[in-house]
This record gives sequence, C-alpha cells and structure tokens, in this order.
Amino acid sequence: MSLLVVGSVAFDSVETPFGHRPEVLGGSATYFSTAASLFGPVRLVAVVGDDFPEQHVAFLAERGVDVSGLSRRPGRTFRWKGRYDFDLNNAHTLETHLNVFAEFDPVLPEAYRDSKFVFLANIDPDLQRSVLDQVKSPRLVACDTMNFWITSKRESLLKTLKRVDLLFVNDAEARQLAGEHNIVQAARRILTLGPRALVVKRGEYGALFFSGDQVFAASAYPLSALFDPTGAGDSFAGGFMGYLARTGKVDAGVMRRAIVLGGVVASFTVEQFSLDRLRTLTSAEIQARYAEFQQLSRFDDLELDLFAPGR
Ligand code: AMP
Repeated sequence: MSLLVVGSVAFDSVETPFGHRPEVLGGSATYFSTAASLFGPVRLVAVVGDDFPEQHVAFLAERGVDVSGLSRRPGRTFRWKGRYDFDLNNAHTLETHLNVFAEFDPVLPEAYRDSKFVFLANIDPDLQRSVLDQVKSPRLVACDTMNFWITSKRESLLKTLKRVDLLFVNDAEARQLAGEHNIVQAARRILTLGPRALVVKRGEYGALFFSGDQVFAASAYPLSALFDPTGAGDSFAGGFMGYLARTGKVDAGVMRRAIVLGGVVASFTVEQFSLDRLRTLTSAEIQARYAEFQQLSRFDDLELDLFAPGR
C-alpha cells in the first residue's frame, strides 16, 4: 500500500568520536525514505534549495522514491550541525539553518492524496496537520516530534496528536511530553492524548511499543562498530512503516515484526556516516540480522522442578 513521508531533506555536518563529516546528505525525510524504500515505493514531500545536487535527487528516485513532491526553491537547503560525545545516545545540536525550510508549506501532489500510510517526520505540528488535511482516508498515520516542539508549540502538538494513530519518540521526549519520569506511566499518559500506539526509542537499549494494555520490548542489536547515530530514529521509522505499508496490515503480530525490523535497519544506519550504509544494504543482510535478533532474546520455558519443595 502507498506510503507518504513529509519532513526535512538536509545537509548535515556531523562530529562523532570517530570522525567528522561536513555537509553530507541527511534530513529526516531522506533517512526515512531511504530506509522505507527497502520494502517498497515511497512518496516524498520536502523542500530543497537551488544548491541541492541533482545526483542526490537521482539517488532517491533510483530507489523507488517518488520525488514529484520534492520542491526546489531559490535559496539554500536546510542545514544541521551536530556533535555526539562518547554517549552516542545524545545529539548536541550546534547549528540549525532553516534556509528554504523556514518557508516550507507542504503541498501534496494530487496523486499523493490517496496515501494509505503516512509518516509525519519531525516538523512544525501546524504543518503536520496541514498535511493531514490533504490526505483523503489514510489507514495509519504516524508522527515524530522533538523537544523543541514539545516546549515551544505544545498546544499545536496536542492538536496533531489527536489525529495520529502512532507516535514515535525517544525516552527523553516521552518524559517531557507526559511530564512524568517513569516511562511506563509516561506512555500511559501519552496514550490518553490521542495516539492508539506509541513507540519509545531508547537508543542502544532498544525500543518499547505500547498499545492499550500491551507492551512489547525489543532489544537493540549489540553493535561492535557504531560510527554515527544520526538518522537512527528516522531509519527506524522508515523500516517500521515500510514493512507495514508492504504488508498492508496493522495487527499486533505485524507491529511486533515492524518494531524489530525498524531496529534492524537503524542498526545498519549507524554503522557508517550519513546514508552510506543504507546505500548498500540488501534484503539478505536484513533477513540475517532479523534472525540474529530472534536468537538474541529467545529463551526456553522454566524447568518447574527447580523450585524448592513447598514453594
Ligand atoms: P534522527 O533520526 O533523530 O537522528 O534525525 C536526524 C536528522 O534530523 C538529521 O539528518 C537532520 O538533518 C534532521 N534534523 C535535525 N534538526 C531538525 C529540525 N529542527 N527540523 C527538521 N529536521 C531536523
């Protein structure tokens, strides 16, 4: 089924303890659509400036990303500069230059309006709702957000959440949004704000999925080589939503496999800088790591004769 993403396409300058890459291809919608295109076609809505090389557009198009919703405006493309210390779970934003993104007004091409699966990447919640106003009858709407919107546009974000089925946040954002430290309590509170389901991303500790009274915990892949965490969240969402759109289903079993696949794709993203690892990633590699994930958390029933008599 059709999958739509609206978000940023960017040049990132990234510093990690393992190296520095200036002005590489990045952006939430770029990571999402590159990851989701491993499973099927993706419709992209974003804006770039006149400095954005045609080769990056061609890269996305060759992967089956529909770029008819990627508009080019006079000016410079959005730029983000970030640094990660040895605690690779936290990005420190050094610079954000919105450039043409400041005037971003997502207009969906007519052919996108019947999209069934929709991912609203981390953008102004007003714009997220304007996208939803243009989609006819989506099957599942998911969204991402960040601390900036939670504090500066809380009321608008709450309005968006009322129209969303699934929210992706990291643990700090979940706590901040709910005003609650305990993650389980925070999740329960967030589920009263609109979304039917919630994914809490916990970096190297994996992800938690909450829906109604159900909780599913997926571990992260124990990587021995991690170079650049940028895009982990968006490629997690891309793997997750790409798989959902591919199956066309949203039942509990599909959701669980989607969580694991999101983790699998994100684990590859962080092995190299920018989108470099995703460029070469194959379905065989995804399947092999998925099987490793299954082994990682598999354990047998308990032998009941282990208990002391009478206990
Ligand atoms: P993540 O998956 O959370 O690591 O997202 C990383 C991507 O988000 C980077 O490639 C950035 O270009 C992009 N990004 C960072 N800040 C913003 C922002 N304020 N609005 C939109 N995109 C952003």
